[in-house]
Amino acid sequence: MGALITRRDFLNGVSVAVGGSIAGGLLPGLAMPGRAAAAAPQDQAGYYPPALTGLRGSHVGSFEVAHSLRDGSVWSQSGKITDTGERYDLVVVGGGISGLSAAYFYRARRRDARILILDNHDDFGGHAKRNEFQLGARLALINGGTFQIDSPRPYSAVADGLLKELGIDPVVLAKKCTDRDFYRSLGLGRGVFFDRETFGADKLVVAGGEASWTQLLAQSPLSPQAQSDIARIEEAKIDYLPGLSSAEKKSRLSKMSYRDFLLNVTKADPGAIAFYQARTHGEWGVGIDAVSALDVWAFGFPGFQGLELAPGSAPGMGYTAAGYADGASYTFHFPDGNASIARLLVRSLVPESLPGRSAEDVVSARLDYSRLDDPRSPARIRLGSTAVRVRNVGDPASSAEVEIVYVRGGEPYAVRAGSCVLACYNMMIPYLCPELPEPQKEALRYAVKVPLIYASVALANWTPFKALGISRVHSPGSYFSSLFLNQVVDIGEYRSPRSPAEPVLVQMTRTPVAPGLPERDQHRAGQLDILSTNFATFERNIRGQLARILGPGGFDSERDVTAITVNRWPHGYAYEYNPLFDPDWPEGAAPHVLGRARFGRIAIANSDAGAAAYTDSAIDQAHRAVQELLQN
Ligand SMILES: Cc1cc2nc3c(=O)[nH]c(=O)nc-3n(C[C@H](O)[C@H](O)[C@H](O)COP(=O)(O)OP(=O)(O)OC[C@H]3O[C@@H](n4cnc5c(N)ncnc54)[C@H](O)[C@@H]3O)c2cc1C
Repeated sequence: MGALITRRDFLNGVSVAVGGSIAGGLLPGLAMPGRAAAAAPQDQAGYYPPALTGLRGSHVGSFEVAHSLRDGSVWSQSGKITDTGERYDLVVVGGGISGLSAAYFYRARRRDARILILDNHDDFGGHAKRNEFQLGARLALINGGTFQIDSPRPYSAVADGLLKELGIDPVVLAKKCTDRDFYRSLGLGRGVFFDRETFGADKLVVAGGEASWTQLLAQSPLSPQAQSDIARIEEAKIDYLPGLSSAEKKSRLSKMSYRDFLLNVTKADPGAIAFYQARTHGEWGVGIDAVSALDVWAFGFPGFQGLELAPGSAPGMGYTAAGYADGASYTFHFPDGNASIARLLVRSLVPESLPGRSAEDVVSARLDYSRLDDPRSPARIRLGSTAVRVRNVGDPASSAEVEIVYVRGGEPYAVRAGSCVLACYNMMIPYLCPELPEPQKEALRYAVKVPLIYASVALANWTPFKALGISRVHSPGSYFSSLFLNQVVDIGEYRSPRSPAEPVLVQMTRTPVAPGLPERDQHRAGQLDILSTNFATFERNIRGQLARILGPGGFDSERDVTAITVNRWPHGYAYEYNPLFDPDWPEGAAPHVLGRARFGRIAIANSDAGAAAYTDSAIDQAHRAVQELLQN
């Protein structure tokens, strides 16, 4: 049932303080309860965040300081900031793939450099987080965020070179370690779940065999008109825009949403719209009301078969769609997603923290968090530390030093560095660096990151999937719009389960949206939705949805669900401009380009700085930022 399957929705389509104090402090709004414990949590025995369950991703304790800064907490000259006395060559704010890559690139040029990486979370990796479970005798891994090495464009020489230096050859590893056909070889395919609230009755329709669209849809609760319109959209070769050239058609399609294309051009029954509404959730983070028809055409969505559109990208396409229209990068998925890239970077920067030598053995290796912020190590990673103030010491034009203030355990600390890379969310930078030129701050504020939820659910077995003949389900009207069995990858000592009687991990994805609003407003609404939803609500929806879909296959939510990790990403994908809502800026004038300009000894990275929500963008932007700092 469906379209091109890509990385994001591959299921959706069918020192603690030493030294003296310095002037400064917090105005009301930024709480400063008591002194930090002598040993930070990450230095204590048993600290192992990948195995934590419950609300993860943007976990409690990770975002409150940043939000209080946004809400008006400012630094004054009255309070006390503890100067740690530390001096580094480079401080990196943000321990995602971009921040870790920046540290890597800097050290490659300055072998003896002393580097500190700060991140507000209790684990490094940014979106590239590892969810780890012990299921019986087996270690089970899944990505908490960044899913796989895959991009709409080939990896640049820089990004590809970094992967190779880390020992990752995606083409070789994909061939050697991935069994993409495993579930299909068991006869398991895709299903669509129609929920009663949206469609009138709960019904799972399983695609498979030789069944036509007409036969499949006949099992659904959709009206006869909606069924026949969907079958026509999926199968008929009709030119809905006769008399226009391919270029003219593409131009028109770039200016209308897919929803409008279906309703107004193919004249689909409104009943058919609900079937397609969430099809774009995983890739774009909004529904079909906010994605252009031309962009979804590039992903093989239906309805365009008879339009005879010339292959390839066209003006007016978004970054992702244009890239996929022209080809894409190689693809490889580690069992913990791109957390393996983050872990390999950490192994390179702080070798004592993670044993092993290869991209294969890293998967099962256990990381010793207590080694990450070791004063003896030239590179250090300090977790639970939110930067709140980053300023050039003296005039930015001639400054030789940056002061970075961060809050950890409720206490503000200051360190100094020769240079600083801000590899954090770009929209936060105006709060960190209020002295940036106003136009640059305005540019940095433009983008709104895409909110997403990836829930990792441990099940005692997957016999209900086998009984129903499914490995993945799209649920257009439900709380989670897709769920799927963990991908089968065997790498190093890591082995995926092969028998339906064995425990397994399932991923369920939710994209909170507000249909009808412009994309950035939908994301703002989605961010609120995520942060105002408690774990009990997520759990109720997970258990309830699984029971309704898998119940007929013998699933019992009380008995079969053994653990849940909800990865919340209110600030998820980097914003990629949407041709339906954003201006077509002249070359070099787009907000992310204006926003990432170097400011004295401070340079700006993160995938946001590339306006591309991909790991190669995170790496490329890190490289550019480091080059800018090393130029003089
Ligand atoms: C659910 C999800 C799935 C994805 N799937 C894929 C995929 O399959 N393939 C792909 O290529 N890309 C994927 N992406 C895109 C992903 O964002 C990038 O690939 C990459 O991981 C981004 O890295 P980054 O370092 O630029 O940003 P982040 O990973 O966002 O790292 C930035 C870090 O800086 C921290 N930070 C922010 N402010 C501060 C502060 N003031 N002080 C200290 N730290 C701060 C943040 O909390 C974060 O930890 C996915 C993203 C999400 C959310």
